[in-house]
Amino acid sequence: MNNPEYEARIDDVKRRAHGRWTEILGSLGVSEQILKKRNQPCPLCGGTDRFQYTDKFGEGNYPCRACGAGGGFKLLQAVMGLDFNTALREVERVAGASPSGQHVASPEPSADRMKALAKRLWEEAKPLTPGDEVDRYLSGRRLALANYPKVLRLHPALGYYEKDPSSGKSRKVAEYAAMLACIQGADGHAVTLHRTYLKDGRKASVSDAKKVLSSGI
Ligand SMILES: [Zn+2]
Repeated sequence: MNNPEYEARIDDVKRRAHGRWTEILGSLGVSEQILKKRNQPCPLCGGTDRFQYTDKFGEGNYPCRACGAGGGFKLLQAVMGLDFNTALREVERVAGASPSGQHVASPEPSADRMKALAKRLWEEAKPLTPGDEVDRYLSGRRLALANYPKVLRLHPALGYYEKDPSSGKSRKVAEYAAMLACIQGADGHAVTLHRTYLKDGRKASVSDAKKVLSSGI
């Protein structure tokens, strides 16, 4: 095993399960009989009285005189016939996965949230007028029009976000005027919102001056 994320996940669930293995094993189907702290046949290797569940270190511990000592995961796998990953998921489910999700990459924003965001940005933006930031930008690129299509708008102060490399979370680092271009699908429903961050009639000098937001509106 050389995947740090995977190892951290295992450490995390072991920490959560610590001292709770009797309850966890019981709720995952390991019989009370096995969890009685008495000598009995080994669920892994048989015999008559070579095994005893002790939970000595709060890790679901057992010693077996024939196949050696083990802990909750090994016992759960053997009794229930699970591979390690399945056992891991089951214990996580019962013991509770990390509430902060600290070992899990932050999930992508949901489609609904993206849709709501695109709608809000679009409503905050205004139709283009001669001389505004977008008109100056397009004029500079020799793309000025007397009448701009409705699918272009000016957002007066659009937040510019960058991902913090250490936390992985996006944070707002600035606000810029921005050109929004609503790109519609054939059925007339918006599918993406292009954002071009502008400053002084030019593309803002940021690492990612053009961004696309995919959604329907
Ligand atoms: Zn055994």
